[in-house]
This record gives sequence, C-alpha cells and structure tokens, in this order.
Amino acid sequence: MISYIAIGSNQADPVEQAKQAITALNYITETSLISCSSLYCSAPMGPQDQPDYINAVAAVETNLSAIALLDALQAIEQSQGRERKAERWGPRTLDLDILLYAEQVIDDQRLTIPHYGMKDREFVLYPLFEIAPELTMPDGTPLIEMLKDCDKNGLTAITG
Ligand code: ATP
Ligand code: CA
Ligand code: CA
Ligand code: CA
Repeated sequence: MISYIAIGSNQADPVEQAKQAITALNYITETSLISCSSLYCSAPMGPQDQPDYINAVAAVETNLSAIALLDALQAIEQSQGRERKAERWGPRTLDLDILLYAEQVIDDQRLTIPHYGMKDREFVLYPLFEIAPELTMPDGTPLIEMLKDCDKNGLTAITG
C-alpha cells in the first residue's frame, strides 16, 4: 500500500526533528520511504503563542495495516520526545499524521482516513502536491482542485 504521512514539528530544533522523522519512516518494519517533499515553514494553527512549524509530507510503501502504521508513527513520536498535553494544537517536537492509506476510507475510534483536516491545511496540501501532483482523493476529488481553495497563508519552502 502507498501511504502519505504528514510531518510537523515546532520544538527542539524542528528541522532536525523533521529530518530524523523522515529517516525513521524508512526503518519502520515492512515499510520503505518512497519520496519526501521539501521542508516547509508554516504559521501555527490554533494557539498563536508558539513558534512557526516545520512541515513535510512523505510517501511510504508499506505492508502494515493502517492501524499498525499508526502504532509505528506514534512510537516514532514518542522516541522523539512527544508529550501529550491537554491543549489542542499546542507545541510539539513531532507530529506524524496519516493523510491517505491506499484508496481506503477509514472512520474508527483511533483513525480517520483521509485525515479530516487535510483539505483546510496549506502545510499539508502544498507539500503533498510537490510529491504527488496527480493525486486524487478516494472520493475522486483531484488534489489540485483542493489547492485552489487553500490559501498559502505565508507557507514557504525551505531551500538547501
Ligand atoms: P489533528 O488531528 O487535528 O492534526 P493533532 O495531530 O495535534 O491534531 P494528536 O494529539 O496528534 O492530534 O492525535 C490525536 C489522535 O488522533 C491520535 O491519538 C489518533 O488516534 C487520532 N487520529 C485519527 N486519525 C488519524 C490520522 N489519520 N493520523 C494520525 N492520527 C489520527
Ligand atoms: Ca523499512
Ligand atoms: Ca496533526
Ligand atoms: Ca497527530
């Protein structure tokens, strides 16, 4: 299965956190990294009294189920110092979200796929478009159509 993973960090050297996470994706069992976008810098969502975020989107090929992939991603978050706090969308060392998993639509207690927030998030849609410009959602909506309704909100690709 091909799955697209969103990476975000705004604590403890976010560029290094993102790079380390990208490397870690390739070490997940039965999973290999296919491609990864540039790193991007975005304004925080939710609480504004926190640093800007570094974001990227990676494509992986995996034989894991979606829920087993989520377990592996949460283990990576933990290994990179993620602390779960009460505040929604507060600062974090690493956030790994499953955007898409093959063509599947999943809606259970732990997992909603496609990720419910992706259509509104420039820091997800633009990096995803960089690596998968021809992508369509499971409902047939082309990714490029979603981009037309999504302001860049100051999103910038980091060069070098
Ligand atoms: P948001 O989900 O709005 O991006 P967040 O990433 O800060 O917010 P978390 O605290 O990281 O939220 O995750 C809360 C829960 O979301 C996780 O424990 C997980 O079970 C659930 N979840 C549901 N769908 C997904 C998905 N597609 N990818 C990752 N986690 C998901
Ligand atoms: Ca691997
Ligand atoms: Ca998230
Ligand atoms: Ca998350």
